[in-house]
Amino acid sequence: MAADTVIDCAGLGKRYRRSWALRDCRLAVPAGHVVALVGPNGAGKTTLLSLAAGLALPSEGALTVLGGQPPGSPRALDRIGFVAQNAALYPGLPVRDLLAMGRHLNRRWDEARALAHLEGLGIPLERRYGRLSGGQQAQVSLALALAKRPELLLLDEPLAALDPLARHDFMAVLLTAVAEDGVSVVFSSHAVNELEQSCDYLVVLGGGRVQVAGEVDDLLAGHRMLTGPTAEADRVAGQLPVVRDRRAGVQSHLLVRTGGADAPVSGSWRQQRVGLTELVLSYLRQPAASALPGPRGAVPPNEKVALP
Ligand code: ATP
Repeated sequence: MAADTVIDCAGLGKRYRRSWALRDCRLAVPAGHVVALVGPNGAGKTTLLSLAAGLALPSEGALTVLGGQPPGSPRALDRIGFVAQNAALYPGLPVRDLLAMGRHLNRRWDEARALAHLEGLGIPLERRYGRLSGGQQAQVSLALALAKRPELLLLDEPLAALDPLARHDFMAVLLTAVAEDGVSVVFSSHAVNELEQSCDYLVVLGGGRVQVAGEVDDLLAGHRMLTGPTAEADRVAGQLPVVRDRRAGVQSHLLVRTGGADAPVSGSWRQQRVGLTELVLSYLRQPAASALPGPRGAVPPNEKVALP
């Protein structure tokens, strides 16, 4: 039976020596989504993906995958494809040998699919992995991960080293796999302005904590940008959870959480919906603000940033 959630964690923490990479993380990522995992450098994205892939153990709390499976268990390993940051495979091996390795190491293996993927892109099977371009290497890593016919695909910054065309090609293959197989995808990315076309669920990590988690449509419907006179901004900001408060002279811009409806403002105030890029950037700029399901996310702090 297909799992309802692909990553579940509560009270999750991971410590490297004396510093915490993740702390008190609570997440329940539903299956059937393309999830963008976003956060500044050092926010804990790689750590979270490594824990989900079973490559590291939590220091506190618990994390399960695919409806309660322990990461790293045979049942989880069979059903998860993982592409590590920089997708470092054996550079000296030809692509054909990497395919053979995958065939021997995995119980589920769809070689025909991998061959069709690579041949479709004109990637020579005899060429050593280390001699391929960055875009070709990324495609080989993706082909190997998809050949497992995974239920969950974890990708750590798959787009980082790719030019715009290679990014487009990579996402096209990924989204085809999502449409054809229903694979759930969690991918970390700094390419904030490209998320809108590819992901339908968002997780923002900030300082090792989950800052935002939710379906993109719900998040976009649940926020408004309010613009109005600074003289009234304190009054308006006192009525709604404010994510970002920018005072620019006589004019102020407040990004607020409204829970789906329009904000109850009128008169000299305008309101508009925001795009995903603006939403993500606002949360990244305000690490103390949060948008989470349940009580913790209900009342984000009002952070005020005065602009010159
Ligand atoms: P980036 O966007 O730069 O890839 P990230 O969000 O993936 O960052 P992580 O790589 O998970 O962040 O790192 C989170 C924190 O844990 C950082 O402070 C990092 O220095 C620390 N860290 C990660 N791996 C280790 C390790 N093996 N030993 C010690 N500290 C580590």
